[in-house]
Amino acid sequence: MHTPYDENGDEIDAKYSIEIVRDGFDLIIESQGGSTGGRPPRNTGYARALVLHLRRMAELGMILDDLQVASTEAMKRPEKERKIRPDGYTLPLELAAASDFEKFRLAIGRASAAFGRKKDSGGNPTKKLRLRMRWSDASTMSANSIAIMLANSVSTEKPTADRKELAERVERARKRIRGRKAAPPRGQDTVPRTSTISDRYIRDPEVIAWVLEEAAGKCEHCRCPAPFKRVDGEPFLEVHHVRPLGEGGPDTTENAAACCPNCHRRLHFDPAKESLRLKLIASVKRLKDFPHKA
Ligand SMILES: [Zn+2]
Ligand SMILES: [Zn+2]
Repeated sequence: MHTPYDENGDEIDAKYSIEIVRDGFDLIIESQGGSTGGRPPRNTGYARALVLHLRRMAELGMILDDLQVASTEAMKRPEKERKIRPDGYTLPLELAAASDFEKFRLAIGRASAAFGRKKDSGGNPTKKLRLRMRWSDASTMSANSIAIMLANSVSTEKPTADRKELAERVERARKRIRGRKAAPPRGQDTVPRTSTISDRYIRDPEVIAWVLEEAAGKCEHCRCPAPFKRVDGEPFLEVHHVRPLGEGGPDTTENAAACCPNCHRRLHFDPAKESLRLKLIASVKRLKDFPHKA
């Protein structure tokens, strides 16, 4: 049994499960109830969860093939008698075409309430349901990974102008979607800008200029010529702080090396970056090993 999360990552009070079937999977949503007869209420987020699931499945291009009541009473009947048909909708239904999922949820609720209704009874619109979904990608996934995919909102990490924060959010998002066939995020059609400068150091252009001239177009790490020339004809190299400014390194020529973009990235991200750093210091006479100041 799984619990869904809303767009803010908060748990919704509802329960559902997934069963793999031919051409897709069944989404089974547990009933809401218990508020009558003195029992504590359960699955109070039933309606919200149903709308969220419908929206997420629509975003993934799924088709609702069949809809059944799955209550204990219903399960005593043959399968064809458990089917319900929401007024105004024809199955199979491409979910994306429904667009107003709250309206669709209400129609499902009315059909569910009408199912097995006794005289003088309003009927329960929040019965346990079985939604048979057609989705070809289901054949490559486990029931558990489909459940996890549906449990999480499609995008939860917010855009940011802060580079360090952005890198952390990217890592979190990658972990969340890894191996899950996540739908592509919506992204931003218009990208907001900020005029505040954060996470930037005020660097000395004299140091950069001097180090680039000293390197004379060759990477000081791998000794190879710069991989390309800039529009002004200058070989393209980047100036790297051997002890990063963020670790207390100075902005001086004794701590700055001209590197090709490949070596530069490796000095920042290679798991062996510490040994690469020491190798660079050993091979360029002017460089010193400045201490890491936390
Ligand atoms: Zn290089
Ligand atoms: Zn660098």
